[in-house]
Amino acid sequence: MPGIQATYLGMPLQLADLDHENLEYFKHCAAHDFHLQRCAACGLVRYPPTTGCPWCASPKSEWVKVEGKGTVHSYTEVHHAIQPAFKTHTPYLVLLVDLDTQKGKPDPQAALRVLGNLATPDGKLAPKEMVEKVGVGTRVRMVFADVAAGLAIPHWTIDESATQPAKPWRYPA
Ligand SMILES: [Zn+2]
Repeated sequence: MPGIQATYLGMPLQLADLDHENLEYFKHCAAHDFHLQRCAACGLVRYPPTTGCPWCASPKSEWVKVEGKGTVHSYTEVHHAIQPAFKTHTPYLVLLVDLDTQKGKPDPQAALRVLGNLATPDGKLAPKEMVEKVGVGTRVRMVFADVAAGLAIPHWTIDESATQPAKPWRYPA
């Protein structure tokens, strides 16, 4: 598989041709499909994509479709963009989301925690009014921002069909 060079919101992105795991992961994202590796030995799904199982070290795995739904575990609200191109999008949220899939396995505190920005349903960085509604406990679903052939970035948007907490926890302003 050839590598990928692209630009996202003015930020250069590169996937090396030897990075088979990430090329495969982002290829599924480009099809707006969320796939993760499931270990052929212990059966646990892992994130981020990598060459070996973090629990049993087996190098054998298969890609399986995973539901892109979960709950905000934590977040960072960015007011000072490090990337100059992101400046016009502040404030924006970086979300750490506990997937519903495999939550509480292999131990009660464990979860597949997937990073992404808060986005609108069409994959654009969320506006301030939306940013202010989201906190720990918000139910979210995955959406994709198309970047290039073979590359889309998974983000999170508020799951309109889910029951939301009355007041998701937010850092004191
Ligand atoms: Zn394993």
